[in-house]
Amino acid sequence: MNEERGPGMEALIEALYPICRSITGDGLRETLGIIAERIPLERHEVATGTPVLDWTVPPEWNIRDAWIKDASGQRIVDYKASNLHVVNYSRPVPPQRLALAELDAHLHSLPEHPDWIPYRTAYYEESWGFCLPHAQRIRLEPGEYEVCIDSTLEAGALSYGELLIAGESEKEVLVSTHVCHPSLCNDNLSGIAVATWLAAELAKRKPGLSYRFLFIPGTIGAITWLERNRHRLDRIAHGLTLVCLGNDEPLRYKRTLSGHAEIDRVMEFVLRNSEGDFEIRDFHPYGYDERQYNSPGFRLPVGSLMRGVHGEFPEYHSSADNLDFVHIPLLEEAADRLLEVFAILETNGRYRNRAPFGEPQLGRRGLYRGMGGEADPRSLSQAMLWILQFSDGTNDLLSIAERSGLPWAILRNAAERLEEHDLLERCGSPGQRERGGACAS
Ligand code: ZN
Repeated sequence: MNEERGPGMEALIEALYPICRSITGDGLRETLGIIAERIPLERHEVATGTPVLDWTVPPEWNIRDAWIKDASGQRIVDYKASNLHVVNYSRPVPPQRLALAELDAHLHSLPEHPDWIPYRTAYYEESWGFCLPHAQRIRLEPGEYEVCIDSTLEAGALSYGELLIAGESEKEVLVSTHVCHPSLCNDNLSGIAVATWLAAELAKRKPGLSYRFLFIPGTIGAITWLERNRHRLDRIAHGLTLVCLGNDEPLRYKRTLSGHAEIDRVMEFVLRNSEGDFEIRDFHPYGYDERQYNSPGFRLPVGSLMRGVHGEFPEYHSSADNLDFVHIPLLEEAADRLLEVFAILETNGRYRNRAPFGEPQLGRRGLYRGMGGEADPRSLSQAMLWILQFSDGTNDLLSIAERSGLPWAILRNAAERLEEHDLLERCGSPGQRERGGACAS
């Protein structure tokens, strides 16, 4: 397909990896700026203190430097070596000396992975801390240390990015990805890279559905976006969050809360009909922003595509989630599957057989077997029989694909042939939410 795809995703990940991102601040802005070099991202700023649903936009956090120095004045923990060393959203700490016992209350490490630096946050609390390898922590000598966190926590704004790719239908597919983690690759530079590539790809044509891409800080970003867009959420027909797509595990799809939205059926169909292992999980109320979109007040049909599961892979939220942990071919595979999903969402629909009394005579219309020029005439004529038999306005093409086991492309082709010969008519338009019942004639 697109030869630049893998290198393009890799270059984006490498550009974003060093940046100290958070749920607000200049690292987040810089990240959105780099994404905006690739796609025409609209950037929004929402002021600190703005009420959003049950929350408030927090003070903006920025950081220039931070360290722990030993008695000889040597930096033994240095923000400039890894931004994971500072608890994200740490309040400013002017240079001061502390005894080891006092300092230790502000340290975080992973005894089970003694060489890794953990990633910790202190959003919505006035605290501070440092993260370091456990092997280093246990070697710290008693005595005095100097600490400093040169950060600011002040009135500012929350930033997020949004891109609408307008299609033939106003019905939208929401693709949401979190952009708030610092130097972690799978979580979630992988999701950012796939979403950015998909947006660039979809923008090359006028798609059948509209696509709305969100690059937002986790939780507070989704809550802010929902607050500002509540009046127009009825346009969202399908949605996905894209998270942790690059580590060496099978693709996993987490269903929407209802579990039987069209996006659930299409995602399962695509994974089932592609090579390789996959897993389908029911909705659960932890993970990423699918929680906000599926909350009772909104109930948007938003599932989640991932490989590594939130909190389940050992490298999760640690320095081991680095550039080596993410594999570009796995991101390409995820992107391919998502394009297949979008193609089905754009062309799925319910049909009505216009000659429903008995089997229409296909031979008379030149539709029986040898139509000429077909790669697989037998499958095509089987597909026509399946479609004519089931198209009473209640079964969509996807349900016929699921039941028949026939490939989507052949069923699409058959439906188009039958429409051309006035044997089939479409009910409604792509993106319409499932209503059930026969379509109006
Ligand atoms: Zn995370």
